[in-house]
Amino acid sequence: MKTAQRIRVRGIVQGVGFRPFIFRLAKRLQLGGWVCNGESGVEIHVEGEAAVIQSFIQEIRTSPPPSAQVTEMEIGDAAVEGLADFQIRESMRKDRPTVHIPADLAVCPSCLAELFDPADRRFLYSYSNCTECGPRYTVIQRLPYDRPHTTMRAWALCPSCSAEYHEPTDRRFHAQPIACPECGPHYYLLSDGRELREEKKAIEQAAELLRAGRIMAVKGLGGYHLACDAENAQAVWTLRERKRRREKPFALMAKDLETARTLVELSAEEEELLLSPARPIVLARAKRSLEGVAPDIADLGVMLPYTPLHHLLFHFGAPPVLVMTSGNRSGEPIVYRDEEAVTALQGIADAWLIGERPIARRVDDSVVRVSAFGPAVIRRARGYAPLPVTRLPGDRPVLALGADLKNTITLAVNGQAIVSQHLGDLEQYEAFTAFEETIRDLLAMYEVPLSETVVAHDLHPGYRSSQFAGGLESCETVAVQHHRAHVAAVLAERNALDKRVIGVAFDGTGYGDDGAIWGGELFVGSVAAGLERRGHLRYAVLPGGDAAARIPLQAMAGFFADQPEAAADIGRRLELPERFFTALKLVEKQLRTFPTTSVGRLFDAAAALLGYTGAITYEGQAAIWLEHLARSGPLKKVYPFPWDGEELDYRPLLRAVAEDRLQGEDAAAIARSFHRSVAEGVFRSVLALGEAHGIDTVVLSGGVFQNALLLADLQALFAESEMQVWTNKAVPPNDGGISLGQAALAAVRHDKF
Ligand code: ZN
Ligand code: ZN
Ligand code: FE
Repeated sequence: MKTAQRIRVRGIVQGVGFRPFIFRLAKRLQLGGWVCNGESGVEIHVEGEAAVIQSFIQEIRTSPPPSAQVTEMEIGDAAVEGLADFQIRESMRKDRPTVHIPADLAVCPSCLAELFDPADRRFLYSYSNCTECGPRYTVIQRLPYDRPHTTMRAWALCPSCSAEYHEPTDRRFHAQPIACPECGPHYYLLSDGRELREEKKAIEQAAELLRAGRIMAVKGLGGYHLACDAENAQAVWTLRERKRRREKPFALMAKDLETARTLVELSAEEEELLLSPARPIVLARAKRSLEGVAPDIADLGVMLPYTPLHHLLFHFGAPPVLVMTSGNRSGEPIVYRDEEAVTALQGIADAWLIGERPIARRVDDSVVRVSAFGPAVIRRARGYAPLPVTRLPGDRPVLALGADLKNTITLAVNGQAIVSQHLGDLEQYEAFTAFEETIRDLLAMYEVPLSETVVAHDLHPGYRSSQFAGGLESCETVAVQHHRAHVAAVLAERNALDKRVIGVAFDGTGYGDDGAIWGGELFVGSVAAGLERRGHLRYAVLPGGDAAARIPLQAMAGFFADQPEAAADIGRRLELPERFFTALKLVEKQLRTFPTTSVGRLFDAAAALLGYTGAITYEGQAAIWLEHLARSGPLKKVYPFPWDGEELDYRPLLRAVAEDRLQGEDAAAIARSFHRSVAEGVFRSVLALGEAHGIDTVVLSGGVFQNALLLADLQALFAESEMQVWTNKAVPPNDGGISLGQAALAAVRHDKF
């Protein structure tokens, strides 16, 4: 007897070949019915033998297309309509679009096989893609996701592509960016003002230039990379010099997994991340050091080729390990428009490998890392954005503007939290423009009028994002304290807005309730009921304010504020530069000093004590240097870092570090002890607060918790206790996660602010 079922599938089911997959599956099982995109996912009507329908449902669950993510399946009985055939029906659209904008996907194995098959019509074609792979967010100009709404609209389909596009059994059925060498865009080479238009020759020539140690600008999915041979120190230093990027590490692209394994130590989990369709940069422990690539850092950031062009470059003989760094001048966002790439990278790149397909928006490479608490995103962009990361309640859409550094924005609408790609530091004009564009973009795509949203922003009145919020006249706005947003981001990710936790937020800087520079905070409470500050790092002072963030010696002076004579003595015995003594004088006279609880600065102070006497050239550099140093040191002892019920007192800790240093103890061993001591301080304070408030879960968030050694120590300590530890996974622990936390707090509490 025939039965019928109605199935509603939610999750990432658009732009990932989901409907063709359902179609083929139904055909194979000889079921009747139809599939279409509904208002909140994919709707399926299926008719046939009950047992066959069961295996149909089973297969949707167990083997959906690789990039699809089924989060929910609603199954109900339906009336038999006597449908013998199975069809893909046009979308039904009623309300605001709730289907997600898909993220960009790495080229799939089927397309890759064709790429190197001389008999295939897409043999060696740089823009090959299908329903399961290729560009999405970086080509979409507006929704619904159809070719005329993409940057591919200028290329009319040839008869062969058109046939594939319209054939439901074809793996390119409705693949919006479909193209072939006949009808699609191509890459060309620009060098010495001349264009080499023949694609194959252009890529061959680019590979040859790379072999010769030249620097190439290469257009990727979401922007331009600057590429050079990572094993050619001369090339790497030239790139640094021309980019004026002195020490910040470069990301690498390895030809294949085998090559990646020679560069870094990879666990099964890390290999899986490297090979995942998002193809992020994976930070892992370096096995070899490549001169100039990542000075003073124990990790290397490695990714695998993710576009057909990358594979072709290696195929045509590019060196097996390439530096692949953002195409920009230092500090600026990655360039993604062709004219801009040619002008902005003049003097940096020797030649340009330019693809004709325009990039709809700038999207950087994502960065992930596996720490003691599992995999976590450090920079969320290509391959992940703008997929929703979690569900958020609330009847009004919330637009959360994030923080000024490592900015992202979050739009909470229809119960989903959509987090944008990493947009950069808003002081940069280009990044601020991207910030404004992305707000417009996401609101337009989800058809949310700005005036209907609650706008959440950082409490810092000086942030450009806060000022932007202040300029929105027709909107209700709420200011969210930075460190509460860090903690809330983790709770939002876990869908646990009611969960009472201890929230530990350690970072470099954030505006506190009292106007001080916070960054070592302990909260008790939940997102729903509010997070109350119940502890913090003992206040230090920061001479020179923001400048102190760049000069660890200055932070050190501020952390010795109440023992200036001892500090001067330490400074003399360690032969610290004059800058330290100048800062001490500021501290003594209380000139241009600001109160702070920043743990980021505490790490800077320790680094300064252990020999980091220069200025930093990128955020977190001194702490990374200290972690690197500590990893080579034995753990001989733990220093005191007492918790008195309200404050973590850094004074005995820094004094012990200084004493050991003056005794001539090995700096690596001291750095190692310092990490362990900080972890123990956190551990003890959290256990005490947990006991006092009857709480069994701690949240760790903020940029300081990107420190893998600190996390490993904390993991080891908490494993021996009853306390559960929650950290960021889907959004970064750094300020890239702030917008999600703001959105969560605003969504449940906007009436209470
Ligand atoms: Zn494909
Ligand atoms: Zn074609
Ligand atoms: Fe922060």
